[in-house]
Amino acid sequence: MIIDLRSDTVTKPSEAMLEAMFRAPVGDDVFNEDPTINALEIKAATLFNHEAALFCPSGTMTNQIAIKCHTQPGNELICDINSHIYNYEGGGISANSGVQAKLIQGDRGRITAEQIEQQINPDYDWLSHTSLVCLENTVNRAGGSFYQLEDLKKIKQLCQQKQLPLHLDGARVFNALVESNYTTHEIGKQFDSISICLSKGLGAPVGSLLIGNKEFIKKARRARKAFGGGMRQAGFLAAAGIYALDNNIIRLREDHHRAKQIEAVLKTLPYVESILPVDTNIIIFNLTDKYTAVSFEEALKPYHIKLAAFGKQTIRFVTHLDFTDDMLEIVIDVLKKM
Ligand SMILES: *Cc1c(COP(=O)(O)O)cnc(C)c1O
Repeated sequence: MIIDLRSDTVTKPSEAMLEAMFRAPVGDDVFNEDPTINALEIKAATLFNHEAALFCPSGTMTNQIAIKCHTQPGNELICDINSHIYNYEGGGISANSGVQAKLIQGDRGRITAEQIEQQINPDYDWLSHTSLVCLENTVNRAGGSFYQLEDLKKIKQLCQQKQLPLHLDGARVFNALVESNYTTHEIGKQFDSISICLSKGLGAPVGSLLIGNKEFIKKARRARKAFGGGMRQAGFLAAAGIYALDNNIIRLREDHHRAKQIEAVLKTLPYVESILPVDTNIIIFNLTDKYTAVSFEEALKPYHIKLAAFGKQTIRFVTHLDFTDDMLEIVIDVLKKM
């Protein structure tokens, strides 16, 4: 048995999900004729109380399309220094949109309205025009931390006042939702555009959605084609997404509970120097000199436990749909033995 804690993207579709995929009615989505994709797009838009949505192959594409549609070349966007759009999208901000990033050091990836306000450039010829603010919720690189609704509202208020669009990289927004007291409608209200991933904790094999108003999504559809993301009978994939949204949101709490149990054990182990607080399904910890990330990875190999080396002494574990209680027990035993 392989226990794969590298990411929550490693899940395989369940029998029931495969069944739903197999039965999906499909058509050519470039002609807008795939009924299953249309149904998924309406479902996602409705969930966040927005007008429209666009099905895309990846979260990188939905984020990059959003940046493209909200900005002009030479503009600047504001985001946290740990953000996925800046760190893990192949330099796409500059390559795809000709935009530069103004980076803020947030509190575990969460930036504040005050910090953002300080970074909005005044209107001088020699300054880049600030045209977008991007938030991430939960924050991947910062250990799955999430925003409080009050803080999002303050940022929304600032952006409205400054006429700045606000985009959410919500690859794991459902992990935030099941842990916090806000609803999808409340999240929808704070943002001009939202990207959600179906292939993270929700267990679908492929797919992300970009959500926004009709005019924005019309523009995004055009950008998706130019980025090479126009798909044909992809309703088979959209069916997995519908299944994921219907069945796999509430159960994210189980992933969080298992992550908490790993955190509790790590706290007692002498070779663990520090752990970021575990708020959702991501566990990031630093090792003492006993191990490097590479040697720790090697040490776990005989037990068939896979992890992500996140720095020289830093490890990331992510719990997910295919990580069971039996696996948790093994992981805890092995960690104690190291
Ligand atoms: C995974 C992820 C994405 C999108 O990644 P893809 O692999 O392109 O789907 C975007 N943002 C965050 C925070 C992520 O963790």
